[in-house]
Amino acid sequence: MNRRHLSLVFVVLLAVAWSLLPEFSVTVLSYIGLYALVAAGLVMLTGVGGMTSFGQAAFVGTGAYATAWVCTSPMATAALSPYLAPALLPFAGLLLGIVATFAIAWGLGAITLRLSGHYLPLCTIAWGLSFYFLFGNLEFLGGHTGVTGIPAIEIAGFSLASPRALGIVIWAVLLLALWALHNLLDSREGRAIRALKGGRVMAESMGVDTGRHRVKVFVLAALLAAVSGWLYAHLQRFVNPTPFNLNIGIEYLFMAVVGGAGHLWGAVLGAAVITLLKEQLQDLLPQLLGSSGNFEVIVFGLLMLVVLQRFADGLWPTLARLTGRWLRPVARRSPDRGAILPQGQLPPRGTVVLEADEVSKRFGGLVANAMVSLDVKAGEIHALIGPNGAGKSTFFNMISGVDDPSDGEVRLHGRTMTGKPSRAFAAQGVGRTFQHVRLLGNRSVIENVALGAHLRGSRGWIASMLRLDRAEEAALMAEAGRQLERCGLGPQAEVAAGSLALGQQRVVEIARALAGQPAVLLLDEPAAGLRHLEKQALGRLLDQLRTEGLAILVVEHDMEFVMNLADRVTVLEFGAVIAHGTPAAVQADPRVLDAYLGGGDEPLAADARPTNGQVDRPAPSGRAAIGTAAAPAKGTS
Ligand code: ADP
Ligand code: MG
Repeated sequence: MNRRHLSLVFVVLLAVAWSLLPEFSVTVLSYIGLYALVAAGLVMLTGVGGMTSFGQAAFVGTGAYATAWVCTSPMATAALSPYLAPALLPFAGLLLGIVATFAIAWGLGAITLRLSGHYLPLCTIAWGLSFYFLFGNLEFLGGHTGVTGIPAIEIAGFSLASPRALGIVIWAVLLLALWALHNLLDSREGRAIRALKGGRVMAESMGVDTGRHRVKVFVLAALLAAVSGWLYAHLQRFVNPTPFNLNIGIEYLFMAVVGGAGHLWGAVLGAAVITLLKEQLQDLLPQLLGSSGNFEVIVFGLLMLVVLQRFADGLWPTLARLTGRWLRPVARRSPDRGAILPQGQLPPRGTVVLEADEVSKRFGGLVANAMVSLDVKAGEIHALIGPNGAGKSTFFNMISGVDDPSDGEVRLHGRTMTGKPSRAFAAQGVGRTFQHVRLLGNRSVIENVALGAHLRGSRGWIASMLRLDRAEEAALMAEAGRQLERCGLGPQAEVAAGSLALGQQRVVEIARALAGQPAVLLLDEPAAGLRHLEKQALGRLLDQLRTEGLAILVVEHDMEFVMNLADRVTVLEFGAVIAHGTPAAVQADPRVLDAYLGGGDEPLAADARPTNGQVDRPAPSGRAAIGTAAAPAKGTS
């Protein structure tokens, strides 16, 4: 039995029990279903996408009030009655709720989500508060008394007036939503959503439009809340502003967090736990403490603190661990090797792919890069070296679109890239790794690598939710698998990326960059943290990539590694290029020796550790003296 079977057993049990359970249990279960639908949206938003909303209750309210208004207001019914049978009014209400929620969420998201920081949570608090007061004061929506007389939903002449009947629809909608969200997460777009948590710079350099994806996740969560509100209105048959208050918005967030914000089923668990807990507290507390105060809020808050203290990731992961002992893991289909992604052509060897033309960068008064010119050609490895603070990372950011030069121009394939975001660089064939590894630590290695191939797929959210993307997904995973094997990490494909040693994580980043089929590969200190044998393997890999015609730029501290591998070396000091040429010429350059050694004749770099008992010295013969066969001879290219 595996987890999937368990979900199936749960659904079957629920279905069988439905007609046997007492009325009260059915009602409670229906409410749990409604709350879980909202919480599932929050799992996507908070747990997966890393954003927080306190305003979900207000979206539930939008859905509820939209249908209440359409079904009961004389104006709306009079306007719609010539076109719609009365039984169809709730569906017109659903449509209005969806359209209104879409517009509000898109508007709020577009304003706040492109900004970083706490703008979204603050904005959702404002929205949660204003909804309550706005709807409480709108006379045509009944003010604080609310709207009564909302009809039951009718499907094919069958009235869903009782909770037992409507509850079936609620749970069907919930399970369908969970299925669709699960599919979405297990797709190219799902990886892009997860990448949002890995930080904007990482996601953008994989080609993900982070602003757009953030808005879309926010809208998705809001729409789930609105559908829940629609069902709620037709279950209660009455709406007023109280259940859509800011406190309830916070309760929804509790449900997602207590259940386990990273897991879809955590939403169901969280909704169940909090609903049942509230039920108990409402009965118990007045008996214990008297009914004069609003104690349940306090006790509730304290309980939450305890739960979160004990189970930081929510209850679901703990439950999954406990049941994990007797559940088989869901077998992952091994990627279909036959599925091939469209392959692009690499530019001919020797063409300049990436070019920086007199690029300068100033931070206030500090000149981090001064008129740096450098190019990278197809089929060569170009190394950029320099002491700490020389401006290497600053330069790296400018040639990958993370930052804009103050002066000068960066060109890719001869086209100027001024003002373009890093996802545009990715689209033009720039693949990169990060000095500080940026992987999604709790996702599998192969998933991380597949993220690198984001721009090579095109299926969108709807296709992913409906599983219409399977052929493309198979091709993407197969590509990720191929790149992993090429980098020697095939056996680790299913391991969580965060559990690998740092050196291996760097290699995963290289595989991820390769999955995007780059024309130019930018590596920021790829050998840092690698052991000797791993460095040799990396050297062989880079040499092979050069042979295949990739343009490679390496920023590196390890002199031995660089001098053995590079065709050309550029040396930066205080933001300016002080030397440029073959490794041998650069090592013999007095200015370089000066920059590194302050004129002394100690080893060239502190971390160019001698091997075979040799002491590394900047000898005129250069590479021969420093290199000790750590990387393949360059003649192979
Ligand atoms: P390297 O990578 O070669 O060690 P950096 O490019 O990180 O050097 O830094 C070059 C100089 O620019 C340093 O003096 C650093 O303090 C400065 N610098 C880098 N980024 C910023 C920034 N965002 N704001 C101000 N100064 C910066
Ligand atoms: Mg740096």
